[in-house]
Amino acid sequence: MPDYSNMNRKIKVGILGCTGAVGQKFISLLKDHPYFEISDIAASESSKGKIYSEHVNWKEAEAIPEDVAGMKIKSCNIEDLSSRILFSRILFSGLDSKVAGEIEEKMARAGFIVISNSRNHRMNEDVPLVIPEINSSHFDLIKKQKTRWDSDGFIVTNPNCSVIVLALALYPIHKKFGLKNVIVTTMQAISGAGYPGVSSMDILGNIIPHIPGEEEKIETEPLKIFGEFEQDKIKFADLKISAMCNRVPVYNGHTLAISFETEVKANKDEIIKSWNELKSFDTPFSPQKVIHYLENEFRPQPLLDLITENGMAVTTGNLRKCNILDWKFTALGHNTIRGAAGAAILNAEYLVKNNFI
Ligand code: NAP
Repeated sequence: MPDYSNMNRKIKVGILGCTGAVGQKFISLLKDHPYFEISDIAASESSKGKIYSEHVNWKEAEAIPEDVAGMKIKSCNIEDLSSRILFSRILFSGLDSKVAGEIEEKMARAGFIVISNSRNHRMNEDVPLVIPEINSSHFDLIKKQKTRWDSDGFIVTNPNCSVIVLALALYPIHKKFGLKNVIVTTMQAISGAGYPGVSSMDILGNIIPHIPGEEEKIETEPLKIFGEFEQDKIKFADLKISAMCNRVPVYNGHTLAISFETEVKANKDEIIKSWNELKSFDTPFSPQKVIHYLENEFRPQPLLDLITENGMAVTTGNLRKCNILDWKFTALGHNTIRGAAGAAILNAEYLVKNNFI
């Protein structure tokens, strides 16, 4: 395996959707990354040719990394592709889902490795939808997918931002006790809608009880993620999820209220033990402990717990008996870090470490 710990030869990566909420988070998180260096940034035609620091409406707390600030933004169009003005091998995509489907497909066909946050390809039969602590075996779908493009390129996706929190919190329970039914109510941050997102007049002092398309994603994506890899297909897990999604006036961090029922009955200590046993792995963005259970009924809270392990861990708390299903608890995750850019970087690190790249 190549040793990327002391990289004289970092892998060049590009950021598609570099001006958006997720694109900015990629740029900020990839600063000084030991495996990857940003060599291309791209967005829409209206951003093309502009100097990044002069054009972007930068929303991250830290300054724009110097090596990116002066870069010219490229477009994602086919001419740029065919003239090969993108120098990167890997493209991290934070593209608007209205355009991500077509652009990402084009990039894979042209031989790029696309690691995407968008919904468009997640449920395709030959596209891995991966949270590496849960279903890294699904990366084997890449072999099948490559035959579709007739190139060395491929697309890998990470799940919806709420699904990542839900799936990480539920997987250890599912693996040990077999989930039957899940009811989840989400309280999702405004940064989850990108910039400028929901109007301040709609969200200040308010709750919006609908996020278009979100409930469907939460009810289906975990079934693929928990699915078994059989021959060259994923057999979806057999459990039922009912989701209710709300946009709340929180800047960052999705909080989920979750009730669940299992095949095999478990007690409180066994559930907490299953969370403590979820294994992480040894790459720069992997949290040391994936799930942090907080023995305090007022936690987790976005203001207090969001940055646990640099935003790459999920926090859970207030585990108690449910009158209808078996148990209920609260889970929290950072939507643009563990739920988006950080999740994609973790997938890319896994692919490098395991020789897919
Ligand atoms: P955003 O802030 O609206 O950013 C969208 C990006 O897409 C911008 O860079 C924009 O560039 C680019 N874009 C729009 N139209 C384009 C076109 N025709 N060609 C090329 N680029 C185009 O959205 P976001 O919140 O970062 O989300 C990005 C993706 O990640 C979405 O698919 C979203 O569902 C997903 N996601 C978001 C979160 C989150 O917490 N925000 C979490 C998980 C997944 P211009 O500035 O040039 O228009």
